[in-house]
Amino acid sequence: MSVEHGSTVFDHPAFDDHEQVMFCRDAASGLKAIIAIHDSRLGPALGGCRMWAYDTAADALTDALRLSRGMTYKNALAGLDLGGGKAVIIGDPGSRKTPELMAAFGRHVEALSGRYITAEDVGICTEDIEHAARETAHARGTAATGLGDPSPYTALGVFEGIRAALAHRHGTDRLAGRRVVVQGLGNVGWHLAERLHADGAELVVADIRRDTVKRAQATFGATVVAAGEAHRVEADVFAPCALGAGLSARTIPELGAPIVAGAANNQLATDEDDRRLSEHGILYAPDYAINAGGVISIALATPGGTDEAVVSKVMEIRTTLSSLFARADSEKRPTGEIADRIARERLERTGTKRAA
Ligand code: NAD
Repeated sequence: MSVEHGSTVFDHPAFDDHEQVMFCRDAASGLKAIIAIHDSRLGPALGGCRMWAYDTAADALTDALRLSRGMTYKNALAGLDLGGGKAVIIGDPGSRKTPELMAAFGRHVEALSGRYITAEDVGICTEDIEHAARETAHARGTAATGLGDPSPYTALGVFEGIRAALAHRHGTDRLAGRRVVVQGLGNVGWHLAERLHADGAELVVADIRRDTVKRAQATFGATVVAAGEAHRVEADVFAPCALGAGLSARTIPELGAPIVAGAANNQLATDEDDRRLSEHGILYAPDYAINAGGVISIALATPGGTDEAVVSKVMEIRTTLSSLFARADSEKRPTGEIADRIARERLERTGTKRAA
């Protein structure tokens, strides 16, 4: 399919040898979606479905290509036997989303016979996935298929990641007496703050919602700072748990903590910021390594099962990060680069084994 006149998906700057890109249309419900399967060497491609009012179909394609590639790396580094994929639905979720549209999306997912497994993402909630699941067996993250809300598991992984970073820096993972800045007290940030508080950390919090920060002040005795100031606060750990792209050429020199370890996706504004963090002596827990708890809970949960296997896999985030930090030190390379390399090594090992 032509993306812009004269160019194809194969020429797209975000195309990275994706295995399959499917353009989906259902005129009756108004569905326009793109499903991208980046790499299935480790297993079926798992990745959420995002709904967004993209300006153009080309923007939606860019997102599908980038996000599906990101899922390949995230699933590989988390030790899951799953590949990377992503779906994007074009349209404003507030006005265009209907049960019929989600059911039509489900039929397209089903047509891939399990090569792609869908779940919720920005603009899509559990209820929407339940509508899709009427038409496909390849949807996860609903109460019927697993553990429901992934945020507590994401928060557990971030908590373990913070302890790995403290241990690497200080030789002890004790949180008592450590000051941690949590930026963004949403689903993940609040659960994380609860764990940190329970272990004796001193909390500094920021959120654009006044009611939330007031609640944190009352519940945790947290100090509140303005949203734009959080990264500057002198602390042991800065945990970004709001939106992405917060670490940039402007903010990195201003960071007040020697460790950055939080849940937000796409924390680096540009690839260069990985190197910039390491040059400033900051220990950065790569976002897709530390925030994998949610995808682990979606991948490993079984209907009606307990969360034992999920919790034990989420706890492995700590070991993964500890060895990643050690390797970054010994190879004198930035941590984000090492995370990508570890993920690629696993893909290549498995790919070679399967081909043999
Ligand atoms: P959420 O929407 O529940 O919470 C985000 C919070 O950040 C909200 O309370 C919001 O008011 C606040 N916020 C927005 N802009 C801010 C700013 N400039 N400064 C301070 N606070 C601000 O989202 P969530 O589910 O908690 O996810 C948080 C981050 O973690 C996101 O980047 C998400 O992509 C990522 N993530 C979440 C999960 C998960 O399981 N929910 C898994 C992996 C990654």
